Amino acid sequence: MLKNDMLEQWDRENFFHPSTHLAEFARGNVPQRIITGGTNCHIEDRDGNKLLDAFAGLYCVNVGYGRQDIAEAIAVQAKELAYYHSYVGHGTEASITLAKMIMNRAPAHMSKVYFGMSGSDANETNIKLVWYYNNILGRPEKKKIISRWRGYHGSGLMTGSLTGLELFHNKFDLPLSQVVHTEAPYYFRRPDLAMSEADFVAHCVAKLEELIEEQGADTIAAFIGEPVLGTGGIVPPPAGYWDAIQKVLEKNDILLIADEVVTGFGRLGTMFGSEHYGLKPDLITIAKGLTSAYAPLSGSIVSEKMWKVLEQGTDENGPIGHGWTYSAHPVGAAAGVANLKLIDELNLVQNAGEIGAYLNKVMAEAVGSHAHVGDVRGEGMLCAVEFVKDRDSRTFFDGADKVGPQLSAALLEQGVIARAMPQGDILGFAPPFCLTREEADEVADKTAIAVKKVLG
Ligand code: PLP
Repeated sequence: MLKNDMLEQWDRENFFHPSTHLAEFARGNVPQRIITGGTNCHIEDRDGNKLLDAFAGLYCVNVGYGRQDIAEAIAVQAKELAYYHSYVGHGTEASITLAKMIMNRAPAHMSKVYFGMSGSDANETNIKLVWYYNNILGRPEKKKIISRWRGYHGSGLMTGSLTGLELFHNKFDLPLSQVVHTEAPYYFRRPDLAMSEADFVAHCVAKLEELIEEQGADTIAAFIGEPVLGTGGIVPPPAGYWDAIQKVLEKNDILLIADEVVTGFGRLGTMFGSEHYGLKPDLITIAKGLTSAYAPLSGSIVSEKMWKVLEQGTDENGPIGHGWTYSAHPVGAAAGVANLKLIDELNLVQNAGEIGAYLNKVMAEAVGSHAHVGDVRGEGMLCAVEFVKDRDSRTFFDGADKVGPQLSAALLEQGVIARAMPQGDILGFAPPFCLTREEADEVADKTAIAVKKVLG
């Protein structure tokens, strides 16, 4: 490992960091952290700090850090064959095996998997496939995509448009015109506090129907959603939401894309979020947990219904005009195979469900009654605490007060990483699936200390 005294200076002078205040970083006002290692739920930096990573990187290091089985599989693959493409029928043992392993785990009505590198490019693939599908079916007008406010689907041109968060649109001339947004299933932020969960589901359905009516069902191709809203605030849907939404989609012949970049491969305590909520998607987006981020790899899982039309399309038009140089990259595929094996061997899906439920319970006990905690919510190994200025009237803090970032900084001072979610004062937790009960207690106890320190 390079221990170069110039690293901090080189970093500020040369490195364009994503999702960073660029000017403040260059001026030296945003702290740097150079990460050097990690084991299970902890990472280490080069100053010798050991931190409990309660966000698993970007909710992606699902099996935890330092897994030698995956590192070995990557090394073996890189030595044997670091690269070959997957165009026109080429594959490797790793990519073919991984495709088989994914399809063994996916819902039964799914048919094939297309590999990419990131969640963003997998969603770009999905939208292209949806457009191709409707062109082959002879309905070129049916192209718009419905996404939800607060959804997160990536930060490319189309995927940044699908994302329903202001930060990802402002000053980028997004969203593109083919994307329209509908209500988020965010019960805590319901428009009228008197609404029951059932009333709020009916409200979300009415909003969706209104939008479809206004745009015309014959112009709408697909609806994309995360089973549990992630970056938008870690918000599980109210009971009955997905059943009610799927009925509207079916009635209007609108495809469903389940973006399972966060929920795929176990985070909710089930292999897929689709299984958890009874979704029957036409496409499933996978990334992060596919390799636990040991190497970049993503995928679009295509249903049999869509696959048949894609085959018809190539019979009529020749090979599909879609491909990335790094599709099914052998090193990523080898990491994926080793990762999925490890998840099974260590029973990590079950652990995510059990310890996730425990984390949610101890978090609610630790901070739930605080005067500025409006909501403690979660599902599986996902948990969020939302802060309010006033609980009874559900008044929010001013964004300029930066309550969320202050709270995550106060947790970091105690050696715990949580994420201040980008829109609202929300602390998000999404630990690796190997979290122990003792670590869950530590996260909850230290959150209570941080809340007391920042909010009294
Ligand atoms: N979809 C969801 C649900 C995500 O949470 C993310 C990333 O956080 C993406 C897509 C985009 O993935 P990537 O950052 O790998 O492009």
